Amino acid sequence: MAKDKKVLVVGGGGRCHAIVDALSRSPQVAKIWCAPGNAGIAAQAECVPLKDTDVQGLLSFAQKEGIDLTVVGPEAALSVGVVDAFRAAGLKIFGHTQAATRIESSKEFAKILMDKYDIPTAGYRSFDDFQAALDYVNARPFPAVLKYDGLAAGKGVVIAADAAEAEAALRSMLLDEAFGKGRVVVEDFLTGPEFSFMAFVDGERVYPMPLSQDHKRAFDGDKGPNTGGMGAYTGLPFIMEEDRAFAQKAILEATAKAMVAEGCPLSGVLYGGLMKTPDGIKVIEFNARFGDPETEVVLPLLESDIYDIFEAVATGRKASEPVWRNAVTLGVVLASKGYPGSYEKGAEILGTEQVDAKIYHMGTKRDGDRLLTNGGRVMMVVAEGKNARAAREKVYAEIAKIHCDNLFHRRDIAHWALDGKILDGKALAASIKDELRDRVGKLEVKYGRKPSLAVIIVGNNPASQVYVRNKVKSAIYVGMNSRLITMAEDTSEEALLKMIDSLNRDPEVDGILVQLPLPKQIDEARVIDAIAQEKDVDGFHPLNVADLWLGRKCTVPCTPKGIVRLIDESGLDLTGKTAVVVGRSNIVGKPVAKLLLDRNATVIVAHSRTKDLKRITLQADVLVVAVGKVNVVTGDMVKPGAVVIDVGMNRDAEGKLCGDVDYVTARLNASWITPVPGGVGPMTIAMLMENTVECFLARIDPQ
Ligand code: NDP
Repeated sequence: MAKDKKVLVVGGGGRCHAIVDALSRSPQVAKIWCAPGNAGIAAQAECVPLKDTDVQGLLSFAQKEGIDLTVVGPEAALSVGVVDAFRAAGLKIFGHTQAATRIESSKEFAKILMDKYDIPTAGYRSFDDFQAALDYVNARPFPAVLKYDGLAAGKGVVIAADAAEAEAALRSMLLDEAFGKGRVVVEDFLTGPEFSFMAFVDGERVYPMPLSQDHKRAFDGDKGPNTGGMGAYTGLPFIMEEDRAFAQKAILEATAKAMVAEGCPLSGVLYGGLMKTPDGIKVIEFNARFGDPETEVVLPLLESDIYDIFEAVATGRKASEPVWRNAVTLGVVLASKGYPGSYEKGAEILGTEQVDAKIYHMGTKRDGDRLLTNGGRVMMVVAEGKNARAAREKVYAEIAKIHCDNLFHRRDIAHWALDGKILDGKALAASIKDELRDRVGKLEVKYGRKPSLAVIIVGNNPASQVYVRNKVKSAIYVGMNSRLITMAEDTSEEALLKMIDSLNRDPEVDGILVQLPLPKQIDEARVIDAIAQEKDVDGFHPLNVADLWLGRKCTVPCTPKGIVRLIDESGLDLTGKTAVVVGRSNIVGKPVAKLLLDRNATVIVAHSRTKDLKRITLQADVLVVAVGKVNVVTGDMVKPGAVVIDVGMNRDAEGKLCGDVDYVTARLNASWITPVPGGVGPMTIAMLMENTVECFLARIDPQ
C-alpha cells in the first residue's frame, strides 16, 4: 500500500489530537494538516491558521494542497455546512451534512426522530413560551431536565432541583436568550449510570467503537460544576454485553436507518450519550461527531487503519470491520486552576517529555522551547492497561512527572469501575425484616402466639434511647409483641435483676434485651449472667459465648452475625482469605473473629493501638473495624480489592455520625465497603429480630 495520502483534520482540541494521532499510525497517510491545530498536534501535523468554521478558507486550502480526505472534528464546523460545501466541490470529506447534523444541533429534531422510530429515550415536551414551560415543569415532579434546543457548547442542559432553579433556568434560556433565540425541551428525569457509545456510520452501515464513560464534574466524587469533561475510560463493568448489543441494534442502527428514511443519511460519527436506567438503556442525547474526552481514550485502542474507515464512510464504500485492542484505556484531564470558571493562561508546564503515556493537548501553546497553558482544559494524559486498575495506576504515576503551578486534575477517574461498591446494610436489613414479617404471621397461625421481645432501658443515655426505640419499632414492624421497660437512672442492681428474673419466668416472653451501657451502680456482667440463656437474644450470656466458641448451636450475637451477612452479600468466598479484625471487644471483635474462622478464613485480631497497624490491615482481604474511634483506618491502609466493614459509630467534630474508617479514601481501594450510617447498624437490629424468632422457636418447638 502506497504511503501517499494527504489528510486535513479540521479542529484543534484534544479530540483532534487523538484523530491526528490515529491517522499518523495509518500505513497510507503521508502527511497531515490540521486547521487550526494546537501546540501538541504540531508535533504530528502541520498546523494551518484557519478557523474550523471558515468553510471557504478550508475549501481553498484543500484544493490548493490536493488533499485526499478531510476529517471534521468539532460540531460547529459541521453545523455551518463544511461537509456540504466540500461535497459540492467534489472533495472527499468525513463528517455529516448540515441536515444530518441536526441530530445534535436540534434537540427537538432528535426527540421527534426517536419518537417516530421507537428509539428508547426519556419522555419530553418542547416549548418556546416561558410561562407555558414553567407551568408544565411546575406540574411535574422534580428534578426537571431542561435542555436548550440548539448548540450551547455543552452548557445548555440544566437539572433543576426545584421550582426556583427551574424558573431561573427557563428565564435565562427563553426570556434572556442566554444562548440566542430558541426553544427548550423539558425531559423526564432518568436515573442510572451514563456512558458513551460512538460508531462510524455510513448510511445504514454502523461500525461500533468501544464503550466509554466520561466524568463531567470538576472535582473528585463527582462534585463541583459541570465541565467539558475531566477524564474518561473504556471497559465499563456495569454494561453487560447484552446491554451493548441492545444499544447497538435498538439505538445506533435504528437511528442510522431512521436518518436514511428521513432523507438525511449519516456519514460520520454518531455519538450516543446513553443511560442504563432501571427500564433499560435509553438515549440521553445524540452528538454528530466524536465525543471529547471519549475520543482520546477510544481511538488509541484502534488497531485497524483509521484512514481506511474514514475514506470508506466518506465515499459510501463498505469498510472492513474495525479491530480494537482488548485492553482498557484511562485518561485524566489536567485543567487550569479555576476552570470551568475564570483561570489564568501562560503557566509553564514541565516534565511532559518524561511521560510514558499518550498526551493529547487541549489548550497549550509554545513559547520557544517552553510549553505553556493556554486554555481551561490543558491536556489529557491517557494510559493503557490490562484492566482499569492497572491503567489508573499507570496514568497517575505518569501524571506525577508533570509539573505546573496552575494545573489540577481529578484523582478518581473510573471510580464507577474501580471504587468500592456500597454494601447497603439498610436495604439488606429491610429485606430481612420483610421476610421475618411474613414468617411471624405464619408462626402466629401455627402456634397461636407471636414471638415476643422485652427491652429494658435503664437511665436516659440519649444514644441508648435512640437504639432502644429503633429496636422496638422494628419489632412492631416485624409483627412481634414487644414490651419496652424503662427504669430510672438510679435503679439498683437488685431491682434490675428482679425485673429480669420475672421476665425469665414469664412464659409469654421469648427474648430479653438489656440496653448497654448501664449506669455505674450496676454490674453489667451480673446482669448479662442473669438473663436466661434461652432468652438471651443478644448472645452475650457466658453459656452462649461458650457454645459459640465450642461450635454448638447457640444465639449468635447480633452485630457479628450482621457483619458476616454483609460480607456474604459481597459474594466473597472466605476460604483461605485473610481477615483482619481491628478491635477486640467481647460483643463485636472477638465473636466476629470466631465467625470468620468458622468460614475458613485466616483471622488476625488486632489491638487498635498496634504499632504500624497499616502493615497488618494491608494483608486483609476482609477488614472489620470495630474500635469506636474516628479514622482508625484510612485509604492507604486498605489492600486494593478488600471488603471493608466499618462497625464504629462515632460523632465527628461537627456532630455528624461517622465510622472508624475514612470512607472517602478507603472507598478508592475497597471492592466493597459499608457506609456509616446505613451499614452495620441496621443489620444489627435485623439480626436481633431474627434471634428473637429463633429463641421463640427453640422454646415453643424444641425439635
Ligand atoms: P468497646 O468500647 O467495647 O471496644 C472498643 C475497644 O476497647 C476494643 O477495640 C479494645 O481496644 C477495647 N476493649 C473493649 N473490650 C475489651 C476486652 N474485653 N478485651 C480487650 N480489649 C477490649 O466497643 P464495641 O466493640 O462495643 O464497639 C466498637 C464500635 O462499634 C463503637 O463505635 C460502637 O459504637 C460500635 N458498635 C456499633 C454497632 C452497630 O450496630 N453498628 C454495634 C456495636 C458496636 P484495643 O483493641 O485498642 O485494646
